Amino acid sequence: MLTMVGYCWLCHQNLYFAHHGICCICHRYLKRQQHVCPRCALPSESSDLPCGRCVRNPPLWQHLIAITDYTQPLSQLIKRYKYHGTPQLAPVLARLFLLHWLQGYREGRWHKPDRILGIPLHSRKRWQRGFDHIELIARPLSRWLQCPYHPGFLQRSRATLTQRGLSAAQRKTNLKRAFKLRGDFADQHVAIFDDVITTGTTLHEASQLLIRAGARSVQAWAICRTL
Ligand SMILES: [Zn+2]
Ligand SMILES: [Zn+2]
Repeated sequence: MLTMVGYCWLCHQNLYFAHHGICCICHRYLKRQQHVCPRCALPSESSDLPCGRCVRNPPLWQHLIAITDYTQPLSQLIKRYKYHGTPQLAPVLARLFLLHWLQGYREGRWHKPDRILGIPLHSRKRWQRGFDHIELIARPLSRWLQCPYHPGFLQRSRATLTQRGLSAAQRKTNLKRAFKLRGDFADQHVAIFDDVITTGTTLHEASQLLIRAGARSVQAWAICRTL
């Protein structure tokens, strides 16, 4: 997936606006999430009402907002971004998320948060990768939406195993008390950004801290949601 500035990352055609990174045709044909539950973003009959799973066992967040399922082409772009040292994809992915979020916002499906947080990377991982892939996306989102982003407010309190390949129970144990929260969240609407949401265990841990700190609502933001 080689590319140069001025060419679409997906189809390699010339871009009219070089900074967009993805052409309008590729953007139009991204396979959006459709007929998914607003709370968990998993397939559901209604996109307006929570699914049976969320009614029985409501998640701590009000909305889980992801552009697409974890499928091509965005899954490939995320891998390229995170594992092949391509931080220049951050504004491209941030813009795709912004457009998706704005559409739902204009339709009145969710409101603007008071603050944005990102799922924190452990310092060792950040060092290995050379950049914080969450922060590089959350920062432009914060600027465009004029909504403060606090990278230090949600922190890792200890190193954890990578969540990939762990069972649901192992994920829970792995992340128990893995985060700590700073700052005042009383009465705040907070958005938490992660690049990919899989089981939601990480998100649950972070949301729990926010709600204990008095947050009024939590929105989960992600580029992709795995099914
Ligand atoms: Zn294209
Ligand atoms: Zn649901």
